[in-house]
Amino acid sequence: MSPSRRSRLSRAIACTALLVALALGYVLGRGGFDPLAVAHAAGAGRVPGPNVEAPDRYVYYPGTEVLAKGEVRVIACGTGMPDQRIAQASACFLFEFGNGEKLIFDLGTGSARNLTGLMIPYEFLDKVFISHLHTDHWGELGALWAGGWTSGRPGPLRLWGPSGQTPEMGTKYAVEHFLKANNWDYQTRAYKITPVPGQIDVTEFDYAKENAVVYQESGITVRSWPAIHAGDGPVSFGIEYAGLKLVFGGDTTPNRWFVQFAEDADFVIHEAFADPGRYVELMSQPPQLAWRMCCEFHTSGQSFGKIMSEIRPRLAVAYHHQEELGPSIENSIRQTYDGPLSMATDLMVWNVTKDAITERMAVVTRRANAVPGPTRQPPPERGRPDPMSDPIAQGEWGPGFNAQNEMLDAHRKKYGLEDQDWRKGRPWFRAE
Ligand SMILES: [Zn+2]
Ligand SMILES: [Zn+2]
Repeated sequence: MSPSRRSRLSRAIACTALLVALALGYVLGRGGFDPLAVAHAAGAGRVPGPNVEAPDRYVYYPGTEVLAKGEVRVIACGTGMPDQRIAQASACFLFEFGNGEKLIFDLGTGSARNLTGLMIPYEFLDKVFISHLHTDHWGELGALWAGGWTSGRPGPLRLWGPSGQTPEMGTKYAVEHFLKANNWDYQTRAYKITPVPGQIDVTEFDYAKENAVVYQESGITVRSWPAIHAGDGPVSFGIEYAGLKLVFGGDTTPNRWFVQFAEDADFVIHEAFADPGRYVELMSQPPQLAWRMCCEFHTSGQSFGKIMSEIRPRLAVAYHHQEELGPSIENSIRQTYDGPLSMATDLMVWNVTKDAITERMAVVTRRANAVPGPTRQPPPERGRPDPMSDPIAQGEWGPGFNAQNEMLDAHRKKYGLEDQDWRKGRPWFRAE
């Protein structure tokens, strides 16, 4: 066995031990979920030494674990606030299912870097559900759209989002105008690469419908119900797969639909904000705005706890706050809720099965690139007009281009590109 396979195997064994221990600990101690204590138990008996491989107790290494059929892995790719910082992107949660499907819930500003860090081919990151049209929930569309296009996504992006009170307030309008604003990007990439991945297929659904099915494919059902946040339009999502029910709340204040439709869910993500004084201290917010932000159009820790006490999920996940506020928000939550709880931060990972829910952190490399998928992109469209005019194109400086001929000849030969040599049509080209 090669060292890398051996290390992968021992990693798998360690993970299995951890899962079993976590499941046991979870079942025995519902309400006292302590991954650290359980993980220590999982590693009991291993003697660490100077040359011994460290056990992977708390870590998810992207690309090393195959999901079981009835399992869901949820990865936080954005848990922060609208203002961008290095530690946390804005709202984004990737749901990966045992059948191979992957759905992205919200695509907040900054989140594409975390998605790329997971080294999943962009080909499979093509389905996005938007809870509402604040940019901290869909502002990264440009990065996924164009980044996927240049990284091999062969087809259009597919996007689901709510309607609004008027057509101009809905997802369809937003995406149509996103494409208009990015027309130069679209036209130039469509000519140079291929046009199809630049399309966005939008499914706009009625924001006011209660627990209505908005997606049903390959054994996964996504439902939507209204959220109360800022104007009409925001929704929360319920996700059903293999007898599991998971919920992504988006942005919402406490509302009766959430309490009704998230009841008894296995895994519930809901926003939780700190007490208003913390925003005055941390962000120099005017006290008047702070108490409206935390508690009028968002949900405080105390209210989050009340909601979770009512619906009793197997695990409640709080997000949408600076991670350093986690301990103080947790204190607020604990005034009204004593059940299982994760305080989410970017790259936190949960594996959800009928028997157990585990919380770990993903370890990603800063230099991960998008990974190509198995499907080739369609070739550029024939006869598509060049968006560059002759007077500009004729400004090319021959000696600069010809300086790379030897290197490009080697590339042409290596990959058999003789009949596709783009240099032949150029006036400056000197064949050897
Ligand atoms: Zn919002
Ligand atoms: Zn938000």
